[in-house]
Amino acid sequence: KRRQKKSTSDLVKAILNGNITALSQAITLVESKNSEHLEQANAIIKACLPHANKSVRIGITGVPGVGKSTFIESFGSYLTNIGKKVAVLAVDPSSSITKGSILGDKTRMEDLVKDKNAFIRPSPSGTSLGGVARKTRESIILCEAAGFDTIIIETVGVGQSETAVHSMVDFFLLLKLAGAGDELQGIKRGIIEMADAIAINKADGKNLKQAKLAKVEFNRALHLYPVKTSNWQPKVMTCSAIENEGIEAIYSMILEYKKLTIDNNYFYSKRNQQNKFWLIQTIEEQLKNDFFTNSKIKIELEQQLELIENNKTTPFVAAEYLLGLKT
Ligand code: GDP
Repeated sequence: KRRQKKSTSDLVKAILNGNITALSQAITLVESKNSEHLEQANAIIKACLPHANKSVRIGITGVPGVGKSTFIESFGSYLTNIGKKVAVLAVDPSSSITKGSILGDKTRMEDLVKDKNAFIRPSPSGTSLGGVARKTRESIILCEAAGFDTIIIETVGVGQSETAVHSMVDFFLLLKLAGAGDELQGIKRGIIEMADAIAINKADGKNLKQAKLAKVEFNRALHLYPVKTSNWQPKVMTCSAIENEGIEAIYSMILEYKKLTIDNNYFYSKRNQQNKFWLIQTIEEQLKNDFFTNSKIKIELEQQLELIENNKTTPFVAAEYLLGLKT
């Protein structure tokens, strides 16, 4: 059964009225590969843009098993209870490989999924992280236009996805476990450097003591970093997602961050910078894609690689030649 195509203005009107079905339909258009759909998606986003931006965007990351879903369920329910409207989106680099999404899995957020003030959208699949990130960014705009005032972007602690999510949120929260032995590893990987706060989850039962110790350790580690441009001193908290402990304190901290950065003009200037970053990022990806998928380039590149293998040219000469080809 084919559903009748809704007009762009009908969809926009419904989204602005907070209609979830329309929001879902618009996100499906954003995620589509069909060029007609994408054209409609672009028109919808353009119309929604003036109504977007009024939210706090929170990135949540951590290794599998740290408790992201449980935390988002608890945190999200707390927020809807105090009258917030919460949208949960996900950036999942592994879903493009495995073709199935792990993050934003609705079966793992049983209460939130039934909550009429919550909207959960699993990670879109895509061929590249850039593609997935673009779709998520556009979905943020749509959710905000639909009246969601708190946007949670979940990602998993692997690869480049954290950098991508960090570049689309206001506040970046890293979930950790006490005594996982990865404190230093995390520092090396630069994830801790991106974090505005670390929440040590599963601070309950026999873990509680260790969690408190880990808090001291992480606090010490965080103080080794130079002061951020935001002027915000990253904080370490403990929480238990399962027992709903420490959840309210985490939200208060995020509000504190928002107040500080709005007062010192960092909040919106960061969003501006992020938009510029994504413009450049999108151009780079498109140019690269156009270049490498060009049939003439494919053949010539093969030949240049062979010349390089036989030491008959240098990488720079070959690159200059390839880039100079009229395609
Ligand atoms: P994710 O892979 O990061 O999304 O982690 P999940 O939310 O699926 O949680 C992984 C496991 O840890 C599940 O068995 C949860 O029940 C458990 N878990 C999550 N949060 C807590 C917590 O605060 N305390 C305890 N004790 N267990 C938790």
